[in-house]
Amino acid sequence: MSTDLLTRRYATIGRHSPLFYDEPVHLVSASGVWLTAADGRRYLDAYNNVPHVGHTHPRVVAAMAEQAATLNVHTRYLNEKVLDYAEALIARFEPELDRVLFTNSGSEANELAFRIAGQHTGARGILVTDFSYHGNTSLLAGATTGLQTHEGLAEHVRAFHVPDLDSDRREPDVVRDEALAAVDTAIAELLQSGHGVAGVIIESIFSTEGMPRVPAGFVEGLAARVRAAGGLVVGDEVQAGLGRTGRTFWGYQRYDLVPDLVTLGKPLGNGHPLAAVVTGHDLLEEFGSRNEYFNTFAGNPVSSAVGLEVLRIIDDEGLWERSRRLGDEIRERLGELVAADPRLGPVKGDGLFFGFGVFEDAEQTRPDAATTKRLVEAVKARGVLLSRIGPTGSVLKIRPPLAIQDAELPVLLDAIRGAVGEVLA
Ligand code: PMP
Repeated sequence: MSTDLLTRRYATIGRHSPLFYDEPVHLVSASGVWLTAADGRRYLDAYNNVPHVGHTHPRVVAAMAEQAATLNVHTRYLNEKVLDYAEALIARFEPELDRVLFTNSGSEANELAFRIAGQHTGARGILVTDFSYHGNTSLLAGATTGLQTHEGLAEHVRAFHVPDLDSDRREPDVVRDEALAAVDTAIAELLQSGHGVAGVIIESIFSTEGMPRVPAGFVEGLAARVRAAGGLVVGDEVQAGLGRTGRTFWGYQRYDLVPDLVTLGKPLGNGHPLAAVVTGHDLLEEFGSRNEYFNTFAGNPVSSAVGLEVLRIIDDEGLWERSRRLGDEIRERLGELVAADPRLGPVKGDGLFFGFGVFEDAEQTRPDAATTKRLVEAVKARGVLLSRIGPTGSVLKIRPPLAIQDAELPVLLDAIRGAVGEVLA
């Protein structure tokens, strides 16, 4: 580790920007799923979902460079590239989701989604899960439950719990109905307080929440209740979108649900700042007729060229299919691993977004954050980067770029197996 870089970082960015690992990694280059550190060490990236089609993908780099050398300008002019991208993106959604507004980050997308929802419903109330993160604006800081914020929960925000059948082993219907009753209470409170219900925001795979195994019908029941109270459903696909969860292209398609607003970010530009709100004609017309929405950098020709190339690469390289296939294979292999130690919980997640809980006891009632942290470090020592999530930080978070190859799976699995063997011995 370079102490010089650390000193410079503290002297400029400050001490509070989070850094991963006991000994931070100093990276200098990357390709595919491989990261190269300054000491020459190579790490398999099993954490980053932003370089979706692979770090420094030559086609993305070429598309970016070519458009940057041709034209880059804001969207108050006509340009084919922007429309080619808008059409290609919208084509990936259900027919009712036929409009897109570009932003530069997931935070901006969620902020805009709630602006649209607030104006449509005339309400302010927001429902979020009790351990989630959707962005860093003032509004979203007041709706953050899964990261430290000074703001705390805003008075017009209510948090509800997402049930997990892996930890609550009662009948799934009982677990679901109890969780939905709590949603009813939260909605009743918002209505009674006069805030009303502008909408709910959920991430389909509930990643910050630790990828709970949600009972069938919970998400649909939640959406129905919010809509009955006049609110809209915002599907945050910033992490789960673009084939990440394998079985479906968008995470929300795992459920019988089409959100009113879908927010996109992280992988959309493979590292280039590109994000969006996808919605329907009526909501866009209503919002557009009242507001001049302008966003200097969002969806410019360079961003659009990058986004378009990312979508094409996903198709050309069969990455969505790979996410499902390799995800299933990893799940099977990890399933064997966790079955061998009662302190390891069932494999969670879907596609190339997975993990498992770590517990102090064989009954799996006491989550073990300290051991999970040691596992993350031990996996890193074996040349693989991953992390941990969930309210207690005791679920391994494994989320390699979709560019991971079949031949690279053993590297990932051997590192996890070796670390488990060492740390839980
Ligand atoms: N939504 C989710 C689910 C996220 O994980 C994040 C970022 N971690 C955001 C929104 C915010 O995105 P950004 O950092 O691009 O503003």
